[in-house]
Amino acid sequence: MTARAEWKVDRRPVSFSFYLTAHACKTNPELARSAVELADAITIAGPKGPETAKRLRDAGLEGPFIFDGTGYAVENVPGPEQWIQQQVIVGAARLLLPGAFIHWDRDSDAALKQTVREQGRIAEDLEAMILLALDVRWVAKRTELVVDALQSTGQPVALVLAHRADPLSEGGAVEGMQRIASRIDSLFQLRSDHGAFGSVVFGAEHASIGLTTTTRHFATAVMRPRRRPGSSPRLFVRPLLDWFLVDDIAGWTAAGSNVVCPLACCHGASLGRFLDPDLDARWHNMNALADFADYILNAEPADRIAIFRNACRDAVTSYGLAGIQGPENPKAQLTSWALL
Ligand SMILES: [Zn+2]
Repeated sequence: MTARAEWKVDRRPVSFSFYLTAHACKTNPELARSAVELADAITIAGPKGPETAKRLRDAGLEGPFIFDGTGYAVENVPGPEQWIQQQVIVGAARLLLPGAFIHWDRDSDAALKQTVREQGRIAEDLEAMILLALDVRWVAKRTELVVDALQSTGQPVALVLAHRADPLSEGGAVEGMQRIASRIDSLFQLRSDHGAFGSVVFGAEHASIGLTTTTRHFATAVMRPRRRPGSSPRLFVRPLLDWFLVDDIAGWTAAGSNVVCPLACCHGASLGRFLDPDLDARWHNMNALADFADYILNAEPADRIAIFRNACRDAVTSYGLAGIQGPENPKAQLTSWALL
């Protein structure tokens, strides 16, 4: 079990949540129930988040709830005051602003500085967290500028990284998040993959992890995210610390222990069985992510960096093994964490 976060500002325990859309919670309340069971909180995405939380609460699910209004992506989010009020009514664990997007601009940092300043002022007035979706190139290429701008507001910040596929695959992004997490007093990373646990070991307070390709990062319409049509579900493979298509996993005929899940979700069965479309892979994915979160977040704070880095290094050595028809190359994000 994960240690329950107490959400005390003075103690600031680290914690994680699953990041689910309001639509997913509405159509599948069991998913929300599983999220609260396995994590410290649930982050509900979209303007209908508070309404959805009320419905879940009426059905007996206590939360804690965090809300990503996704104002960086959609138009129909209420204004800041009204949005904060909606979160207060349903007892949100933390209050977040609706959210703003910052486009990449190679030639000028004016828009970044201005948006951060404006959002910082609103956050201060409403005693809320700033919520920013950032084109990841700001993090990767202009890290110091981002740190200075965020620090100058003196407000807590929730970040969503934007990229067409995997934000932390961008050269310098892992190192950038490491520096931002270690220097911003109160930082949440929302709508992320397991890379947000890396931010937590370096000083972030909270990681909110998505279960689908569209909830593990943000992509603008212009970024045109890649999709593999008609593909099989993706599974989080705990020893390899990455997501893989079931089709691919089933082809790793000699990959041995990497494709067997010893956790309570699978009881030692092979992950290849999820080729069966009647089996729901989400319970496995949530358990595998929660197991990794327990391992990292429950470690002594002074040991967390080494434990996380070693887990990444161990994972890297499981790729490309001679004589084994298994996964070939670790992704750039994993090798970046392993090298830190
Ligand atoms: Zn499993």
